[in-house]
Amino acid sequence: MTVYQSHFPPVPVPNESIFTNLCRTRFNDFPPERPAFIDAASGTTITRRELRDLSLSMAWGLRNELPRLGGIPLKRGDVAMVFSPNTIAWPIMLFGSIAAGLRMTLANSAYTAREILHQWKDSGAKVAFVHPSLLAVTLETFALLDLSLTEAKRRIIVVDWHVPSQAVFKEYICMSDLLGKGSLAEEEKFSGEQANETTLLCYSSGTTGKPKGVETTHRNLVAVLAMVDIAYPDIREPNPTMIGVLPFYHIYGVVKLLHFPWTRGMPVVIMQRFDPVDFCRYIEKYKVTQALVVPPMCLVLSRHPAVEKFNLSSLRVMLSGAAPLGGPLMNALRNRLLKLGTEVFITQGYGLTETSPTTHVLPAEDSIRKVGSIGNLLPNLEARLVIEDTDEAKEGEPGELWVRGPTIMKGYLGNVEATTNSITEDGWFKTGDIAVRDTEGHYAIVDRRKELIKYKHPEIVDAAVIGINSEKEATELPRAYVVHAKGLATGERIEFGKQVQEWIKAHVARHKFLRGGVVVIDVIPKSAAGKILRKDLRERAKTEVLLE
Ligand code: AMP
Repeated sequence: MTVYQSHFPPVPVPNESIFTNLCRTRFNDFPPERPAFIDAASGTTITRRELRDLSLSMAWGLRNELPRLGGIPLKRGDVAMVFSPNTIAWPIMLFGSIAAGLRMTLANSAYTAREILHQWKDSGAKVAFVHPSLLAVTLETFALLDLSLTEAKRRIIVVDWHVPSQAVFKEYICMSDLLGKGSLAEEEKFSGEQANETTLLCYSSGTTGKPKGVETTHRNLVAVLAMVDIAYPDIREPNPTMIGVLPFYHIYGVVKLLHFPWTRGMPVVIMQRFDPVDFCRYIEKYKVTQALVVPPMCLVLSRHPAVEKFNLSSLRVMLSGAAPLGGPLMNALRNRLLKLGTEVFITQGYGLTETSPTTHVLPAEDSIRKVGSIGNLLPNLEARLVIEDTDEAKEGEPGELWVRGPTIMKGYLGNVEATTNSITEDGWFKTGDIAVRDTEGHYAIVDRRKELIKYKHPEIVDAAVIGINSEKEATELPRAYVVHAKGLATGERIEFGKQVQEWIKAHVARHKFLRGGVVVIDVIPKSAAGKILRKDLRERAKTEVLLE
């Protein structure tokens, strides 16, 4: 068995809660009055000290004020949901709830009532922090649960703190009602073995099936921050500033949100959503030096006129993640910025919700030489490249990436089967991604083994979904292959495909729409072991015209 070690020396991981780690252990690493978060649109700023104090006040409010106002009483270990786009209220909800000992489940702010319902029930959430713009969807969710309006209101905390809104929510419990009434003398402690208790429950499909609650522990988070700190591009500027445009409901966004004000003393400028003009405007306004992005943003920035309109010369590093950043796109963006007189290191990291998330980062100094690579394994991690669950790939050969170390999730909430399918008895997590490793220890993702989406439908007897590359959008779009119970003639197949696309649109958030098309086929290609031969489907897709 070939086990690859990280080339970084191991870093210590204290057994404490993520709140204790950041707001106590690391508190004095940087001046307490330094801004931690800035709301991009309004300029509202909270310092590191204010964030700690507001969080302890929020924790007190959740424990004491919430039941007094008629809300559901909460105790350590209970689950609270956040259903909100990015706002400066996010760090306070999150840190305050963690200080109160709650587990947090973060919901995609594009979700429909049905999708929220699944996450609400599956996570066992007791209350939800809800942004005013998502109140209607939340009430629809509670109606699906047959909860009366009075009962629904006991479970909702409206995120009104520094949220611009004309509406008054007098009949609801609001975040501002819970702040400033008292302060928890000490946060809930998670020392020793208790550091292995869950703190985040992000939802991920894993390799297959419905979204599952990924149990991320305090120790997972304390570990990933210590590990990433070693490998993160070491551009020590006098006034580092990060732009926070990634959604905080995703592990990639939330971990970075936790990270920078504490480990690098770097304020995070929070944007509600990506818009290329605002993105460039805020880089200029706040003299942003670093940006965490995803490939579709890089594509927009490689072409959009706003890049020339604003002064982006403060920008030093862009770190892309969550999906492959190809060499041509990286070069196009880098060269465009160079022509404008700004040299930016554009590099990438890799990871999954299940790995908290980052396992690999490509160092900035290698970003040109090793373009397209995901870089080195972080400290405290080990990796294997495995073929069909048993054989090891030979040096330089592709194999499924397995990872072991302190950032691997505890498991999928309440789903022993999915957990044992993804984590071996000796602790190896199977990523479902196919990688190669070169002699310098740089990894590259070359393929994906796992299934992305599968669903049931009365007329569909079998289905598989693959991602097809859309150059137009620099992202993968889901394309479904379905087998109809009655076969269907050619014309009917096209019509049926369209119907399936429409059906999906009515039921799920936009990113799951089958924008890569729906193709009716006779049979889904499978291996003798019954595994879908995604490679064959991908080959086939190359010859098909995109159905819109
Ligand atoms: P999620 O759990 O939503 O973060 O999705 C994890 C998946 O995103 C991984 O299993 C990969 O398939 C994909 N992914 C993340 N980062 C990269 C990257 N840098 N290159 C290629 N695929 C990536």
